[in-house]
Amino acid sequence: MRRALFEDEHEWFRESVATFVDRELMPNRERFREQRLIDRETWRKAGEAGFLGLGVPAEYGGSGVDDFRFNAIFGEELARAGFAYSSSFGIQTDIVAPYLLRLTTEEQKRRWLPGFVSGELISAIGMTEPAAGSDLRGIQSTARRDGEGWRLTGSKTFITNGYNADIVVAAAQTPDPGGISLLVVEDGMEGFSRGNKLDKLGQHEADTAELFFDEVAIPAENLIGEPGRGMRYMMDHLTQERISTSVVNVAHAANALRLTLEYVNDRRAFGRSIGSFQNSRFALAEADAELEMARVYVDRCVEAHVAGELTAVEASKAKLLTSEIQNRVIDTCLQLHGGYGYIQEYEVARSFVDARITRIWAGTNEIMKEVIARSLGLEDPRG
Ligand SMILES: Cc1cc2nc3c(=O)[nH]c(=O)nc-3n(C[C@H](O)[C@H](O)[C@H](O)COP(=O)(O)OP(=O)(O)OC[C@H]3O[C@@H](n4cnc5c(N)ncnc54)[C@H](O)[C@@H]3O)c2cc1C
Repeated sequence: MRRALFEDEHEWFRESVATFVDRELMPNRERFREQRLIDRETWRKAGEAGFLGLGVPAEYGGSGVDDFRFNAIFGEELARAGFAYSSSFGIQTDIVAPYLLRLTTEEQKRRWLPGFVSGELISAIGMTEPAAGSDLRGIQSTARRDGEGWRLTGSKTFITNGYNADIVVAAAQTPDPGGISLLVVEDGMEGFSRGNKLDKLGQHEADTAELFFDEVAIPAENLIGEPGRGMRYMMDHLTQERISTSVVNVAHAANALRLTLEYVNDRRAFGRSIGSFQNSRFALAEADAELEMARVYVDRCVEAHVAGELTAVEASKAKLLTSEIQNRVIDTCLQLHGGYGYIQEYEVARSFVDARITRIWAGTNEIMKEVIARSLGLEDPRG
C-alpha cells in the first residue's frame, strides 16, 4: 500500500540518512561489532548531519522541528540496513531526548542539549536494575539528601550506551516526598563506575553495560523534573519508546524478507529455484502480508503520536505484535536459507539474533499483554 505518512521533506531526509548509513555506518559495521561499540567519531558525524537534534529547538542547535516522522525515518533507514538503532542512536533521539526537552530547566537545557545534538555528549537511560526490570517500582538505587543535593548509591544493568555515555538519566528512590526521582549522573563523577560491555546475543555494534553508583554526589541542579514523580515520567515516556521500537521492528524484518527473496530466487534445488516451491511461496506471501498489515498500523500510530493522541495501550499493541511478527518473519527467512541461515556471515543469521531482544525490551511482551488486558477492564495482578 502507498504510505500516506510522509511528505516530501521526510523523503529528502530519508535520502540523507541513507547516505549516512552507506558512507559512515556500513563500512565500519564489522569493526563496531568486534569492539561492541560505535566510535565517538561516528556519533559526532551523526550530530553534524543533524540526526541527533531531531525535535530539539534551534536555539540549542537542533532541527527546530518537533515531528516524530523524522525519528521514524532515522530508525527505519538504519534497520533497513540491518544496523542496530534502538540500542544506539535511538536511545538518544527517541528515548532520552523527551526527558531532556520536557523535564529540564532552561539552565539544564543550555548545559546538555548543544552537546547532545552535536554528538559530543552521548546519553543513556538507567531504569533497569539487577532486581527490578518489569517491576520498576522495585528500584533499589537510593539517593539520600546531602545538603542541597543528593548522594546516589545502587546499580543499573542492561544499559544501552552505558559504556560510552557522558550522561545517564538514572531512576532512584528518594525521600521527601517518597518515590522515584530522575537524577542525571555525569561521566567523571566520583563514585560512578561501569562494568565491562555485556556480551549480548546480538545487536553487537552497540554497547550495553552495567553501571555502579557508590555515594555519588549529585548536585541539586542535576535533578530533572519534580522529585518523587519519576515513575509517572517513565510511564509517560514509554509510549514513544514503544512506537519507536515498533517502527524499527517492521523495517528490520522487511530487510530480512528482501534479502530472502533475493536468496530463494538464486538458490536452486531439484532443478528449480527454492522460491518456486509452494512452501517457500506461501511462507513468503504470509510474511509479506503480515508485515504490510503491521506497517499500516504502525504508520497510523506514528501519525497519532505526531498529533499527540497515541495512547499507551495503542503503542503497547504495536510493540507486542510488531516484535512477534518480526521474530516470526525472520525465523521463516532463516529457514529458507537452509544451513547458510545459521552462518554468521549471512545477514539473516544476524537479523535472527538481533531481533530476539525486541520481545523483551521496552517492556516485555508479557507486560504489553498486561497493559492491553487492563484496558479491557480485566484486573491487573500487579495492583
Ligand atoms: C540489550 C538490552 C538493552 C536494554 N537497554 C536498556 C536501557 O537502555 N535502559 C534500561 O533501563 N533498561 C534496558 N534494558 C532492560 C530491559 O528493559 C529489561 O530487560 C526488561 O524490561 C525486562 O526486565 P528483566 O530483564 O528484569 O526481566 P524480568 O522483569 O525479571 O522478567 C522475567 C520474565 O518474567 C515475565 N514477567 C515479569 N513480570 C510479569 C507479570 N506481571 N506477568 C507476566 N509475566 C511477567 C517477563 O515478561 C519475563 O518473561 C535492556 C535490556 C537488554 C537485554
